[in-house]
Amino acid sequence: MDSPGPCLVCRTPLARYGEARDHVYGLCPSCGTVQLAPMPSQETLADAYQAANYATDEHGQGNADSIRKSSRNYYESLAGLLVCHSVTGPVVDYGCGWGGLTELLAQRGHDCLGLEACAPMVAECRRRGLRVEDARNHPILQSRATVQAFVMCGVFEHLAEPREFLTAIHRALRPGGMLITLQPTAPFARLVAGMLRLGNRRAPLPRHFDVFDAPWHTALYSLRAMEKLAGEHGFRLVETRLAPQGRVGGAKGLLQAAAHNLNRLGWPVFGRCWPLAVAHIFVFTKR
Ligand SMILES: [Zn+2]
Repeated sequence: MDSPGPCLVCRTPLARYGEARDHVYGLCPSCGTVQLAPMPSQETLADAYQAANYATDEHGQGNADSIRKSSRNYYESLAGLLVCHSVTGPVVDYGCGWGGLTELLAQRGHDCLGLEACAPMVAECRRRGLRVEDARNHPILQSRATVQAFVMCGVFEHLAEPREFLTAIHRALRPGGMLITLQPTAPFARLVAGMLRLGNRRAPLPRHFDVFDAPWHTALYSLRAMEKLAGEHGFRLVETRLAPQGRVGGAKGLLQAAAHNLNRLGWPVFGRCWPLAVAHIFVFTKR
C-alpha cells in the first residue's frame, strides 16, 4: 500500500500499520489514531451488518444472554454516569446490539429507545419486549433537540462516518444534552500490537482482546483525537473515565480480572496517560 490516505481526525497522511482479517489498518503519526485504510463506505458496512454473520460471528457472539452477562459491568457504568450527570430526559442507546443496556436503562426508569442496524439483533430485542428500532435512517437522527443523552456501549469505534454521525446527534440533542460513549481506544491497541509483533509491522495485527476486529472496528481513537473530533462538532469533553473490564469466562476472564486489578492501581496515578486501559468512557456535553 503506497498511500493509505489521510487521518479521518486530523488529515495527516497515515502510515501503514498492519493487516487484520483481510483489511489494512493505518496509524496516524500525528494524533495516534488507528483506522481502517481505506475506510469502508457506509453502504458497504451497512450491507455487512445485515449479513447474518455479524450477529453470530465472534464479535456479535450470537448469544444475547452471554453478551449481557459479560457486558454487565459496562452497562452498570453507563447507567451510573446517567445518574451522576442527572440525565432525566429521553435517552437513545445507539447501536444497542442485543439490548442489554436498553433493558437496564428502562428498568432504571429511563425513557430509553434502542437503535440497532443489525436486523437479527433488532428482532431479538423486540422478541424480548424492548423498545428497539432500526437505526438506519431513523427519524430521530434528523430531529432537532429531542434527545437528552446518547449512550454508546462499544459502538463509536464501529462508525464509518463519525463526522456525519456527530453532526446528526448534535442536532438531535437538547441544549446541554450529553454523549456518553464507552469504546476501546488506541493506546492499549498499540501497546498490544507493539508487544506481540515485537516491532515487526509486517506481521499481522494480533487478534487478542478483539481490538483489531476488521471490518467492524473502523477506528481506535487516541484520547486527544476523540476530544478533537467531538470538539469540532460542537461537543465539550466533561470527563474521561477508565472503562471497567468485561467479564467473560476462561483464560480471557482471568486476564480481564488481572487487568482490572492493575488498572485500579494505575489509573488514579497516571490518569489519561495510563496505557493498560482497553477502553475508556468519554462524557461530552453539547456546547
Ligand atoms: Zn490523526
